[in-house]
Amino acid sequence: MLVLGAGFGGLELSTRLSEALGGQVEVTLIDRADAFVFGFSKLDVMFDRLTPEAVRISYADITTPHVRFRQETITSIDPAERRVITDLDTYEADVLVIALGADYDLAATPGLAEAGNEFYSVPGAEALRDVLPSFRSGVAIVGVCGAPFKCPPAPSEAAILLDDYLRERGVRENVRIRVVIPFGKPVPPSPATSEAILARFAERGIEFVPDRKVAALDPGTNEAVLDDGRRLPFDLFLGIPVHRAPAVVEASGLTEDGWIPVDPGTLATRFPDVYAVGDVTSVGTAKAGVFAEGAARVVADHLIARIRKASAPPGYDGTGSCYIEFGGHEVARVDVDFFSIPGHPTGTFTAPSAEMTAEKSEFGSSRRARWFGA
Ligand SMILES: Cc1cc2nc3c(=O)[nH]c(=O)nc-3n(C[C@H](O)[C@H](O)[C@H](O)COP(=O)(O)OP(=O)(O)OC[C@H]3O[C@@H](n4cnc5c(N)ncnc54)[C@H](O)[C@@H]3O)c2cc1C
Repeated sequence: MLVLGAGFGGLELSTRLSEALGGQVEVTLIDRADAFVFGFSKLDVMFDRLTPEAVRISYADITTPHVRFRQETITSIDPAERRVITDLDTYEADVLVIALGADYDLAATPGLAEAGNEFYSVPGAEALRDVLPSFRSGVAIVGVCGAPFKCPPAPSEAAILLDDYLRERGVRENVRIRVVIPFGKPVPPSPATSEAILARFAERGIEFVPDRKVAALDPGTNEAVLDDGRRLPFDLFLGIPVHRAPAVVEASGLTEDGWIPVDPGTLATRFPDVYAVGDVTSVGTAKAGVFAEGAARVVADHLIARIRKASAPPGYDGTGSCYIEFGGHEVARVDVDFFSIPGHPTGTFTAPSAEMTAEKSEFGSSRRARWFGA
């Protein structure tokens, strides 16, 4: 059994198989990175709430029985033969699961690499940690350059945390903060969540520019060029780059319209015994860790049932909860259901509270313990 990608999806899948099947299945888990980092930890790093070292969870710490981790870069995937080539080896699998996430395409937004910053990668967040202390006045734009993008609330969280950061340094009144996103509301499936975020923006003097993407940055004038041609000047640009499936996945022939189509109930691709979970798919949920994890659980349960010759377990339900930083160390939660009403995701909001802050912390520490041992 071969699992490509040790993010939310790959880690949960291998752990669940190991728990249920022990030595009945040997899992090889491959990732090019040497450590896992939660998506939300990038916000902690950029705003200097945690050090880069504190948020890295080394893959060397994986002790899950019957799971063999390999730090290798996948260079070719042949889904028909279930053959995978890496920079170091060649693998053939009975069952192949692709959990390679989404990559960023900075070049798709002219000017972004020269004139802007991004906080969606670990190096991007680390670089911003060094840039932010010298930003004391001017216009900051948090701008989304393409959809779909991971964790739809994250741009709003970044704007609110930037407001906190600047207030703590006594320079907030010198800065204008604007958020550009390609939706009419910050979190479209949940009107209550969107209203609460917009209310927080209003209290904090954060300007919301809905229904627009940032198409380019003009390094000559330091302006963000929106997809309707409007130009917004900036002194600091915090970008969410265009997302795309990793190049090795695009080259495998598995994608359609950029992402891997899967059966939404079973996460099966059109190739026998090849599954795909998480951000790399077009399953119909948001691109977020909780959904990758939920999908991985379903694939694991199908494989477990198959091995035990049991009846098929329930299909993937497309539900998950995301925590949202509301500033002042307060966290809220949105529970989203993508599948119950086809084409119409719905969400329920839980207001910020100390309880939610503790719940988010438990969300992270429980995964860390489950996937990496105590
Ligand atoms: C700022 C920010 C905040 C976020 N906040 C949240 C949140 O609060 N809650 C939440 O649920 N989600 C959040 N997310 C989203 C979450 O991080 C992702 O959606 C989630 O990690 C997707 O899981 P995945 O398993 O599909 O892919 P990933 O976790 O991205 O894992 C994919 C893995 O594949 C590996 N890989 C890719 N290509 C290759 C290759 N060629 N060879 C070898 N390995 C390769 C990568 O190194 C990576 O480890 C946030 C994201 C960001 C950026």
